[in-house]
Amino acid sequence: MTYCRHACNDCIGACPYNVPISDVLRTRMYATDYNNLKFAKDEYAQLDISADACLTCDGKPCRDACSHGINIAQLCGPTHVMLA
Ligand code: SF4
Ligand code: SF4
Repeated sequence: MTYCRHACNDCIGACPYNVPISDVLRTRMYATDYNNLKFAKDEYAQLDISADACLTCDGKPCRDACSHGINIAQLCGPTHVMLA
């Protein structure tokens, strides 16, 4: 339930703050699934827009945005805390 499918992007446009959801989840995967925190942080730092907006968002806009059932809001905020 955390695997963001490669080249999916069904959720694009769901976030009113333009958080690049799939990119954020990809960098999360580097840290949590590949155990490569440094690479994850380096990749996260390259994103034009971070997921800091997720820390104050109620998560409603992206609640049903993932066609694969990922709880985007639950993952993106903590990813920012972990990698920023
Ligand atoms: S939780 Fe809010 S800010 Fe974060 S991706 Fe979803 S809609 Fe965007
Ligand atoms: S819809 Fe879900 S699986 Fe597809 S890119 Fe967005 S978060 Fe990833």
